[in-house]
Amino acid sequence: MNLGDKDKSFIWHPFTPMAEWCSDASEPLVIERGDGVYIYDNLGRQYIDGNASIWTNVHGHCHPRINEAITKQIGSIAHCSFLGTTNEPAILLAERLIGLFPSKSLERVFFSDDGSTAIECAMKMAVQYFQIKGQSERCRFVTFGNAYHGDTLGASSLGGVERFFSRFSDLGLPVIHLNSQEELNEVNCEEIAAIVLEPLVQGAAGIRLWPDGMLKQIRDWCDAHQVLLILDEVMTGFGRTGRMFACEHEDVIPDIMALAKGLTGGYLPLAATLTTGEIFNAFLDEENTFYYGHSYSGNPVGCAAALASLKIFEEEEALSDLPEKINYLSKALEQLKTENHKVIDVRQCGLIAGIEILGNGEIIGPEVCSIARDYGLLTRAIGNTVVFMPPLVINNEQISNSMCALQTAINKVVG
Ligand SMILES: *Cc1c(COP(=O)(O)O)cnc(C)c1O
Repeated sequence: MNLGDKDKSFIWHPFTPMAEWCSDASEPLVIERGDGVYIYDNLGRQYIDGNASIWTNVHGHCHPRINEAITKQIGSIAHCSFLGTTNEPAILLAERLIGLFPSKSLERVFFSDDGSTAIECAMKMAVQYFQIKGQSERCRFVTFGNAYHGDTLGASSLGGVERFFSRFSDLGLPVIHLNSQEELNEVNCEEIAAIVLEPLVQGAAGIRLWPDGMLKQIRDWCDAHQVLLILDEVMTGFGRTGRMFACEHEDVIPDIMALAKGLTGGYLPLAATLTTGEIFNAFLDEENTFYYGHSYSGNPVGCAAALASLKIFEEEEALSDLPEKINYLSKALEQLKTENHKVIDVRQCGLIAGIEILGNGEIIGPEVCSIARDYGLLTRAIGNTVVFMPPLVINNEQISNSMCALQTAINKVVG
């Protein structure tokens, strides 16, 4: 059996219709290595990593500095428990993360494993915070539209993407799903612990942009009603929107922030939930201890990778190069739309883009991506919206090549 056949025999893939995956016609793409924005399969074919390996990769694959940091850390120790002990990479990473925010705003870092657990942690923090304050009736969460905050049960109860979450909607935590900001006027704010929001852009909803100023308005509403603001920057964090964090665009600081995907530069599963001194201090008495954590919390290898990634931001101008690339992408997207009338919408926030194709009632996004793959671009679609979210290191020529591959693929599928 070749590797693909063994995969089809033994593996159950995430978000994947498995009958199709396992069918005789399907040939699983076996990824062998990566270099910068490129990934290579085991037949030596090269692809641009057009969705940054599901929105995680930042500085490119196989980055020498991150590789070196990981190798060095593994030479010392790969893991030790964070319950009762600590380690240098985790300490230095926490200090550096806090240093990315204005002083006396976000002051504490709680480590976990991935976006979902960073959100679970944020939700439990919020609920317990109000219990400690004697307001245990504040135990509900508010989310908007087609929110996506992860797949563990707590995080998925926040989710609004019907296809992913409707089966589980009766389980999980109490969540009020709103379709518009106006509906906030109708909720009983006395029972709300927090609003959970993807700032500026909802990713899994199909790259949906919030109107300018919305984030700030939500911050003001939370302040007026003593509701916490939890920002999910799992996808938007670490440069993706053109700033280090999306909330900087509207000068908003949340009470709790969830970070994951790009935290390690896209290398290893590591997440962080950041919060204010005010919330942290409420948990100080022994009876208020936060009984939450995971076996791999504060993993030193993940933290070493994340530290290296943040140093690259600081020393290699990964952020200051962005405006020019973002501008280039926006022209390329406009051109794609002008030249192909089947492209009905392009949505962009920084280096995050959604290209929506007219399907006439059919879901053709995946087919477009599968053909784009033959032309050297690897990405995925959400319905008929093709996502383009490359590593930040992509250059203009590679952006242009990606758009050409997409243009060809769209023409082949819808003419
Ligand atoms: C991917 C994502 C998550 C979930 O992160 P995982 O690491 O997949 O658990 C949560 N929120 C947002 C906005 C995401 O894009």
